[in-house]
Amino acid sequence: MKLPPISYRRAGSADEAVALLAESGDDAAVLAGGQSLLLELRYGDVRRGVLVDLAGAADLAGLAVADGELRLGALVRHAAVERLELDDPLARLLRRAAAYVAHPPIRARGTFAGSLAWAHPAAEWCALARALDARMTVRGPAGEREVAAEDWFRGPHRTQRAPDEVLTAVTLPLLGAGAGVGFAELRRTSGSFALAAAGCAVHVAAGRVTRARIGLANAAGVPVRAAEAEAALVGSDGSPDAVRAAADAAAAAADPASEPHCSAEYRRHALGVLTARALTEALGEAA
Ligand SMILES: Cc1cc2nc3c(=O)[nH]c(=O)nc-3n(C[C@H](O)[C@H](O)[C@H](O)COP(=O)(O)OP(=O)(O)OC[C@H]3O[C@@H](n4cnc5c(N)ncnc54)[C@H](O)[C@@H]3O)c2cc1C
Repeated sequence: MKLPPISYRRAGSADEAVALLAESGDDAAVLAGGQSLLLELRYGDVRRGVLVDLAGAADLAGLAVADGELRLGALVRHAAVERLELDDPLARLLRRAAAYVAHPPIRARGTFAGSLAWAHPAAEWCALARALDARMTVRGPAGEREVAAEDWFRGPHRTQRAPDEVLTAVTLPLLGAGAGVGFAELRRTSGSFALAAAGCAVHVAAGRVTRARIGLANAAGVPVRAAEAEAALVGSDGSPDAVRAAADAAAAAADPASEPHCSAEYRRHALGVLTARALTEALGEAA
């Protein structure tokens, strides 16, 4: 791939990446897996003079579980999430969704955090981050701060991250034994972006749904947390009627865009169907 002339700087740590960004100002971009950024540079959608590559920053590598949470460093790739071995239903949900993220060569290079930083409305990880109350850790010249997923997304490709900050990690609470999870997606071809997708986690006790978390991809310019759908389900017996009510609420919560091969109306319908499928899968596991 031919890129326009650009300076390449390789950071050896997160702090070095922050320093390199500060040196280069608005002309710099953070390079993670490069699966989105390099295409944008190639086609002129983004213009930058300096790339700050995180690949050598060992402190941004690896996954860790502590205090009931999974922390994914900025260099954790989609493929590592696809293979995640962890004794919690969260791993099951992430593995299921990972299979829909692009295709294997892209999953081998692209990063989980890069997807959150890129904030594409159709991104599977962004929808799950909303559903599961993820927290983003960003580091900049003023130090480190955490941003909740509900505050992170500002619009298509816009987040709370300032240009001089590096997203160093994403933290997801574990779901706990007994949670059921589901993921359903509609896409035109294997490997293409979701036309619509729904991911969820539910808890059931004594035949009643006690907790439901539902995230939607490509339902609006930002990933959507279907709070009304969750409320419709909690306290119910999780019957097909309850699932249908929740799915209708999810579809109503969406404000989808039209594209040449997917009208807003079709997308809204699909979001309802996908939510019902994901919930049915999750309730089947939790029961
Ligand atoms: C053909 C194709 C199909 C795809 N299909 C899907 C799909 O179905 N679902 C999906 O979710 N994605 C899809 N993608 C996108 C892919 O998953 C990307 O890898 C991912 O979205 C971005 O991750 P990356 O590590 O490659 O980031 P990069 O491309 O390196 O960066 C993307 C953007 O995020 C910024 N960034 C990245 N990491 C950080 C960080 N740690 N701190 C600060 N800023 C950062 C960069 O500066 C850049 O602006 C597809 C891509 C292609 C080319």
